[in-house]
Order: sequence, then structure tokens, then C-alpha cells
Amino acid sequence: MSGLEIRHWAGFAQRPFLAPERVRAYQDARIRRLIHHAWRNVAFYRRRFEDAGIRPEEIRGGADLQRLPILTKADLRACRDGELLARGVDEASCLAEISSGTTGEPVRFVRTRGEEYTLFAHRLRAEVLSGLRPWDARMKIGSAPVRTLPHRLGLFRCDAVSDGQPHTQILAELEKKRFDVLCAMPNILDILLPLFGESNLRSRKLRRVFCGAELLTGATRKRLEETLGCRVVDFYGATEVNLVAWECVRCGLYHTCDDAVYAEVITEDGRQAGAGEEGSLVLTALHSFAMPLIRYEIGDVVRRPAAPRGCRIGFGAIDKIVGRVADHLPLPDGQWLGPCRLIEVAQSIEGVRRFRIVQTSPASLEVEVQREEGFGEEQAGRLRGGFEKLLPAGVRVEIREVDDIPLTAGGKLRIVEAWRGAREP
Ligand SMILES: [Zn+2]
Repeated sequence: MSGLEIRHWAGFAQRPFLAPERVRAYQDARIRRLIHHAWRNVAFYRRRFEDAGIRPEEIRGGADLQRLPILTKADLRACRDGELLARGVDEASCLAEISSGTTGEPVRFVRTRGEEYTLFAHRLRAEVLSGLRPWDARMKIGSAPVRTLPHRLGLFRCDAVSDGQPHTQILAELEKKRFDVLCAMPNILDILLPLFGESNLRSRKLRRVFCGAELLTGATRKRLEETLGCRVVDFYGATEVNLVAWECVRCGLYHTCDDAVYAEVITEDGRQAGAGEEGSLVLTALHSFAMPLIRYEIGDVVRRPAAPRGCRIGFGAIDKIVGRVADHLPLPDGQWLGPCRLIEVAQSIEGVRRFRIVQTSPASLEVEVQREEGFGEEQAGRLRGGFEKLLPAGVRVEIREVDDIPLTAGGKLRIVEAWRGAREP
């Protein structure tokens, strides 16, 4: 372990409480190390730095990063296989994840196990700062959590109820389990909300509800807090870097996780956003060395707060996030289908550049595909087959190739749009 890593873990618990200038000094040291590493070991970045006329020693910290170009999803997609991986990384021993992010364009990200656990630790620390106690049990609605050392010691326990089952079944399982903190995506909570009022969860006094991965609306938050009688805390994460920011229970803003990511908010005219201004979020991942992400434009629009709120947490803040929207789909039998599995299917098909799923009635689904090389009849058939497996018999799936899938204002894409009753003509 290098000196920088030892200092990272020694100061880990207290770092969110450091003064902002000390947080910046920490970030600058990590950025210098990352830039030198990328220059020496990643051909893609070396070429980029040379094209920009930059030597690695000229980047002394976050403020100098602006001299480097922004890395877009299109840049990543244009890379050849393995071009972004650092020299000497054994990809077979790494974890790979595919993200289609806000814009619905799948990109593959690679991390070592060590990097993955480091990012988990940052998320866990944010959960503790949001009220989680080591002896609290968390229950997740979704895929089974990764078992890490603290879990095995009986600390920070986490269990899961699958979201791939009817919502009445999800509720029945939740009622049987004992837990203090419920972790779920806002969409599924929205669907369960009408059932919570009659359930034993209401009388059990949960400690917190942790939300993430999707936009949490003010209305859902209010109804959840009223129904379950506990605080709802929102976490803003992304496949590429895990935790980006979390909602502070002290000041109400979202604090960026500044010792995991260096966050810039870039306005439409290319400036760093000032107080109260919106812009595109650009992240430099401070712990990703296997596949570095330097000035990566994640595709979400965020806003800097109009005024500081004098919080004990010294990390930076944003106060509004416009992310990807994916709805749950009502099915003809009265059940609901979560969007994640549909998204996974679409992401797994070769030649799908961007996609959008529109449910035109409970029994009919239109899938728009913006294709690239490699997408043909066979891929369209696999896409349809994958969807049909997830849907009850009788639901019609239509695949349509389109030239472009336009984003709405702010670069937002409603990647899965559910049918919500007959619309006015
Ligand atoms: Zn705060």
C-alpha cells in the first residue's frame, strides 16, 4: 500500500468534516497521482494529453484539469477494446459493468475488486452520516448485496428482497423480515406506497428509507415520510463511479463525495457553474486506476446551490439533479414490471447504440432502436425474445429502428416510458 493510500484510510472517517481547503489539497494530491498514472500506463490518455499539448507535471490539481478536454460517452464508445485499460491490468480478474446512463448509450466500465470495495466504503460512510448505525439491518429491494468483511462480522448487515416478483409478494416478504433501514428505488416505492399504509411496516418504526438510482420526486418523498413515519434520504450514484453525492440530513443539500470523485459543473458555454447555475456534471474518479475516468461527462444536469448553508460537512454541494427517468410498467394482469430487467436485455444486444422503450398500452410495447454496425434481424429477434420472456403472454413487442432518439431539455431521456392510462387526444 502506498503512502497516499495509507493516508486515505487513516483519515477516511473524518475527511467529510475537514475544512474545504484541506479537502482540495487531498483531491489535488490524488489528481496528480492519477494523471501521472494515466500518462504512463494508458495509451488513450497519453494521446489525449499530447494532443492538448499538456505534460503531466503541468496538472498540479483540480484547477488545472480544465486544460484537459472533456471525455464524453461518444469518446468512450469510439475506443478500441482494452484501449482504456491501464497497462498490466488483468481484465479477467476485474469486475465489469455496463451503464447506459442518462442518454441510453451502453458503455462498459472495468474496476479491480480493490477499487470496487473502496467505492463501497465511501457509500457506507455516507449512509452512516445519514443515520445508519453499525448494528442496523438494511433491507434492499433489488439484487442481492455483495458480502464484505463487515457483513460477515455482523456489522452493517444487508439483505435483499427480489424486485423480480409481483409487488404484493415483495410487500409480503418485507412484512416477514426484520430490518431498520429500507433501501429501494423511488419507482418501486411509489408502487408499494398504497400498500404500506395497511402493512405492519407502518407500525414498526423504520429508522430510515434510503433511495437511489432514480429521480426521487418531492411528492413521493412526502408520502413516504408520512406513511412510514421516518426520514427519506436520497443517494445519487452512477455505475461508473458508485456514489457521486448524497443528501445531507443536516443542511438538505447533496454533498458531492469529494474524496472519491472530483466534481465539476460545466455550463452550456463551457464555464465552471457559479452559485445558483446549472450545468453538465463532469467527474474525475479519484480511485479508478484500472480504467481511469478523467473529466468524464456523465450526462446528468445538476445545479450549484445559490448560497452556502454553513454545514459541518466540508465537501462541495449541488442542490438539484436531473437524471434519467425509467418508469415501472403496469401489466394486463394488474402486476408491475420494473424497468431494470428490460434495460439489461436491451444493453446486452450487440449493435444497439441507443434505445427507448415506450409502453403504448398495458399489452403493447414499442422499442425504438438507434442502431449501429452489428444490428440486424437476428439481434432484433433476440431483443424481442428477451423482452417476451419478461412479459406475460399476449403482450405485443414491436421493434422499430429509428435514425435518432432525441433527448429532452437538459439532455434527459425517458428511457422507459410507461403507459399511464388513456391520454387526451
Ligand atoms: Zn450538509
